[in-house]
Amino acid sequence: MHRLHPGFGQFRWVVLLLAVAVILPTVGLLWFMNKVVKSERLVVRQRLTTFYRGRLSEVTGKVGDQWAQACRQLERKPSIHPYRLFVAAVGQGGYDGLLVYDDTGQRLYPVLSTDAGTLARPSEDFRDIWEIEFINQQYERAAEMYEERARISDDHGRLAAYIGKCRSLAKAGRTDQAIAECKLRAAFSPLAETGDSRCLALIANARLLLLSWIQDNAAYTSLYEETFRKLLAMLYNPNGAGFALPADENLFIARKVLEIGDRTGLLTRNSDLLRGTSLKRLIQVEEQSIRFAEQSPTIEKFDDWQGDRLQPLILGEEPLYGLSHRAGRGTCMALVSRARLTRLLAEYAASFQDANVDYRILDEAGKVVAGVGETAREPCAAGAVGPHFPGWTIQLFFKGGDVFERAASEQIAIYTWTGMLFIVLILVSGAVAAKGIGHQIRLNKLKNDFIATVTHELKTPLASMRVLVDTLLEGNYRDQSQVTEYLQLVSRENERLSRLIDNFLTFSRMERNKQAFQMRPVSPVSIAHAAAEAVKTKLGRGHCCFATQIPDQLPEIRADHDALVTVLVNLLDNAYKYSCDEKRITLSVTGGAGGVRFAVADNGLGIPRRALKKIFERFYQVDRSLSRRAEGCGLGLSIAKFIVDAHQGTITVESKPGQGSTFTVTIPTTASA
Ligand code: ADP
Repeated sequence: MHRLHPGFGQFRWVVLLLAVAVILPTVGLLWFMNKVVKSERLVVRQRLTTFYRGRLSEVTGKVGDQWAQACRQLERKPSIHPYRLFVAAVGQGGYDGLLVYDDTGQRLYPVLSTDAGTLARPSEDFRDIWEIEFINQQYERAAEMYEERARISDDHGRLAAYIGKCRSLAKAGRTDQAIAECKLRAAFSPLAETGDSRCLALIANARLLLLSWIQDNAAYTSLYEETFRKLLAMLYNPNGAGFALPADENLFIARKVLEIGDRTGLLTRNSDLLRGTSLKRLIQVEEQSIRFAEQSPTIEKFDDWQGDRLQPLILGEEPLYGLSHRAGRGTCMALVSRARLTRLLAEYAASFQDANVDYRILDEAGKVVAGVGETAREPCAAGAVGPHFPGWTIQLFFKGGDVFERAASEQIAIYTWTGMLFIVLILVSGAVAAKGIGHQIRLNKLKNDFIATVTHELKTPLASMRVLVDTLLEGNYRDQSQVTEYLQLVSRENERLSRLIDNFLTFSRMERNKQAFQMRPVSPVSIAHAAAEAVKTKLGRGHCCFATQIPDQLPEIRADHDALVTVLVNLLDNAYKYSCDEKRITLSVTGGAGGVRFAVADNGLGIPRRALKKIFERFYQVDRSLSRRAEGCGLGLSIAKFIVDAHQGTITVESKPGQGSTFTVTIPTTASA
């Protein structure tokens, strides 16, 4: 008959409950994680956008500050010579051109020789001598005439006359004399210190002439170098007299000096005079300034320019921007090349350069001047470059979609791992709960089985005792021998009952972990004898041959005497129960290296191989059928194993179905333990 397992229904509910408790939270968590990961990307995009917007306004603020500072360098103070302003604007300000006006609108720099009237041109006074020098080519005569004219002229005329004389002497082949006189009277003249622009132009001219006469002449090397140095010192030097020269003449000299200096290497050797600026750049800027001045003769031209704002200009080939700064006593108009602006802005924009964004800067016409070129991407942040750059904008672009992926991935990884951890925790707690509930179910079943078994096992002996006692009480017996027989039967049933109850009590204590053993040194021989004695009556009757092999002397063991007797009685009882009609049961005890071995052997039913491992489990019985003859509740062997384990011993079984079984209990001796 197929009996539905009583725990099955319960088990089904538990599985269902666990599935709900584990699967639902897990699925929920996975769904939540998926949502979190998606929203994390959005959050990262938002966070990055805000971050870069902040950074953009920080940078444009910095650009504004720095540009305002650069504009302040264009402040004109009357105490500062416009030429000094020019040198500062080129050197520190990095401008590519400069015009300086005073507060009346008069241009102070660059002053051109056309503006300043006749400066370096010799006066009409020299027309007669020129004819002799240049047309008649009478150099000796010209030299004398120049000498005479020098005596009656002013400083400027005298200088011009001496230069003419030296030139004539040189043409007449008297170079050494020309050199000596030129040095003494013109090129090294103390008039260079006066700051008279007309004289300075002549002195510079004399120096150039002197250089042309003594170049490649080893005898004058040091003079050559000295003259070059003096000439260079006149240029772009705030403390030098070169300031007084008109810009175009200064430029003429500067070009010559650059040419000589580059050729001879003297420029590099005297670079200290230029204070970190390159002569070439100064020349270029001055050229630019002059060109700009020629196009804008009056300041009125800049009336519609907004102060400190860049204004696109068309001047020459290179795109240029103009900037007017009205402050101090006058106005400065500065020029900045587009390339220079781009470089400057690129320096600011470099602070954007990171793994996440590209940038680009657009000018007032929407043309890209720096950063990435045309792009179809939408800028994540955009802003004006600053008030100084009307119409200029900076735009920032995220570098493709993977930026968010990268930025979010770290956070996502944290969420994923946390989620996984929770899932593992749910699974582990589910498993622990399942195990706990399973255990509880088994325990419940155990209790039910126990109660059923106890009732069943107690019922049989009690019923038979009652029948016997009732028979005796009713007087239904033949003679005294029958009475004795009945009483013996009652006694046996009683004994069986006692043993059953003993086992139940031991099991119950075992279950509650209350079983306390009184360990003391005992003789295995006495244990074996006590066990044999206990079963003697039962095993000694009928077709049962019970034999013992117990030596007189064996080493002592540390054990609970009564508990080990219970073990052996249970084993002997089983041997009796599970043997056929001709029973042969042996109890033997032997000593050895591993300890004392108690062996109970029978010639009974034997135990199938598959059941060998299970027979020590509680309530396990090989034959659970109702038809089985042997009484018992499946506790005997489990109790025996529990007791043996408590003695650090082992219990084993060898069995062959149909031939019998041998149970061996080994308990370590005091010496071996
Ligand atoms: P029970 O009260 O049923 O005897 P035990 O725990 O003592 O419970 O034994 C468990 C099962 O092991 C028995 O039901 C029986 O099937 C089997 N068994 C125990 N001892 C023997 C033996 N000597 N010969 C054959 N089978 C045995």
